[in-house]
Amino acid sequence: MRLSRFFLPILRETPKEADIASHRLLLRAGMIRQEAAGIYAFLPLGLKVLDKVCRIIREEQDRSGAVEMLMPTVQSAELWKESGRYDDYGKEMLRIRDRHDREMLYGPTNEEMITEIFRAYVRSYKDLPLNLYHLQWKFRDEVRPRFGLMRGREFLMKDAYSFDLDYEGARHAYNKMFVAYLRTFARMGLKAIPMVADTGPIGGNLSHEFIILAQTGESEVFCHRDYLAMPVPEAGLDFDDVAGMQAIVDQWTSLYAATSEKHDEAAFAAIPEADRVSARGIEVGHIFYFGTKYSAPMKAVVAHPDGSEKPVHMGSYGIGPSRLVAAIIEAFHDDAGIVWPEPVAPFSVAVVNLKQGDAATDAACESLYRDLSARGVEVLYHDLDERPGAKFATVDLIGVPWQILVGPRGLKEGKVELKRRSGDQRDMLTPAEVLERLAPQAPAARDAALPV
Ligand code: ATP
Ligand code: MG
Repeated sequence: MRLSRFFLPILRETPKEADIASHRLLLRAGMIRQEAAGIYAFLPLGLKVLDKVCRIIREEQDRSGAVEMLMPTVQSAELWKESGRYDDYGKEMLRIRDRHDREMLYGPTNEEMITEIFRAYVRSYKDLPLNLYHLQWKFRDEVRPRFGLMRGREFLMKDAYSFDLDYEGARHAYNKMFVAYLRTFARMGLKAIPMVADTGPIGGNLSHEFIILAQTGESEVFCHRDYLAMPVPEAGLDFDDVAGMQAIVDQWTSLYAATSEKHDEAAFAAIPEADRVSARGIEVGHIFYFGTKYSAPMKAVVAHPDGSEKPVHMGSYGIGPSRLVAAIIEAFHDDAGIVWPEPVAPFSVAVVNLKQGDAATDAACESLYRDLSARGVEVLYHDLDERPGAKFATVDLIGVPWQILVGPRGLKEGKVELKRRSGDQRDMLTPAEVLERLAPQAPAARDAALPV
């Protein structure tokens, strides 16, 4: 992408309304724009990151055996009356009437709708287990929308719903999601710690919130330090291995970890003092087994092998991709701006032309841009007529992991400078060496990757 053809409305001033780093940087880097309280437009750079986050979520959901679909944002109130939640949900729910005066709502979550879909088609144990997920915008009229994408009113959610014959099956479904979540957050560079969460009237211990430690987090959390170094399962694992999944979950729940709502002072005090972590955290995911809470009132029943018919056992599993974009920035930024982990970076490489209009410099930039793009690398070519200082500030602010600084001085020796956004690594290399470093294998040129 050539910056001259992109839409990147950078703000030089620090926006006054932003209290935390991620909100400030999202606005300054031209990633989002507030349209109403807690309601944001994703500008092109923001959308690129959101898409990367969603892609990782999808890959790990699919790997664990969940199946993607898409439910609408607008729902009929009828379903919510069946489950009994229409009145309970209160003012967080945005209620709408259509032209026929029918009660509708903008979905804050989808348990009712997925249960309705399930009961319409699935009748037998032979069709289980099943886990259906979607990525869809939600609306919750939060009392205090704040911190930008962190607590919005309209926000994106990945929500998955599992269906099993009995508790044992549901437990395995829960464990699979638990493991998928560990991998999902780790792939974004985050250390997310599963913490025991409240299960409300259902009881049991099958609810965990996945929390990232951050000073600006809204939750107060307590955990054992060893969680910060615990190894995350490799990609090759077998999600159908019931004992294997259970063993991973057992390991990841063996040490103390709880938010303030479930905090147990005595249990925490039993941990050696040096291992106690008491911090603030951001909830990025929440998984929950709720049994027959919706299937019983909504009559989603399945036939068991013995011929009996019983309500199906369900769980739901949420992740907030839009909140994650902000959470990743909270975890990865410095004084100059965002420092994206490579898997979620909007572009992998920025080519910075230090003397726009100089024939040799322009030519070197063009060929680096073309060659990297042809190898499938996502490149932003800073081709605007600006001073080098302003260009450095922009590419640092938007956090592109690799910068290639191209100017007449280096080119005299046939070299350009390769700089890593994180850390101090800087190397003078020939363009061929840069290509070799950043994209060693040249895949067949894809149309989508060709420069425009
Ligand atoms: P919170 O306690 O932060 O309000 P929640 O328990 O209401 O979260 P869930 O209903 O479990 O959240 O939703 C699943 C995920 O959706 C959360 O883990 C979070 O990542 C995301 N999420 C929830 N509310 C918001 C919001 N207002 N803005 C952005 N993301 C949100
Ligand atoms: Mg909430």
